[in-house]
Amino acid sequence: MKKEDCIFCKIANGEIPSKTLYEDEKFRVILDLGPATKGHALILPKEHFADLYELPEELAGEVMKTAKRMAEKLRDRLGCEGLNLVQNNGELAGQTVFHFHLHLIPRYRADGQKIGWKPGQPAEEELEETRKTITD
Ligand code: AMP
Ligand code: ZN
Repeated sequence: MKKEDCIFCKIANGEIPSKTLYEDEKFRVILDLGPATKGHALILPKEHFADLYELPEELAGEVMKTAKRMAEKLRDRLGCEGLNLVQNNGELAGQTVFHFHLHLIPRYRADGQKIGWKPGQPAEEELEETRKTITD
C-alpha cells in the first residue's frame, strides 16, 4: 500500500524523480539529497511502512540483502574504505521521514563525519537487570 502525502512513497514508486541507483519490484535505492558523504544512499521499500516496527519480517531480510549488494557496489565504484548502515525509528531517534528507509553511508579517510554514541559504564548488575527485562 502507498500512503497519500508520503514523499518516499512517491519517490519509491517513481512519481517524483530521484537519483536512482537500483530498482526492483520491491525496492528503490536512491542517493540522499543531503548526503553525509559521497554516495550516501537510501533503500526505500515501494510499499509504505512507517518504520522497522511496521516492516514485515520477510521484507526486512530482503532489505539487508539489498544493503549487502549495494554496499559492495559503493565500495567497488566509489572506493570508500568503510560504510555505515544507519536506520532511524521515531522522532526521538532522529527519524525525519516516516517511511522506512535504510541509510548506506560510504566512509572515506578524513571525511569529517562522525556516527556514534557516548559509551556508558553500567555496573554488571545493571546490565544483568536489563538483560532480564528484555528476555524474561
Ligand atoms: P531520517 O532522518 O533517517 O528520517 O533520514 C531522512 C533522510 O532523507 C535524510 O538524510 C534526508 O537528507 C533525506 N531526504 C529527505 N528528502 C529527500 C528527498 N526528496 N530525496 C532524497 N533524500 C531525501
Ligand atoms: Zn510512504
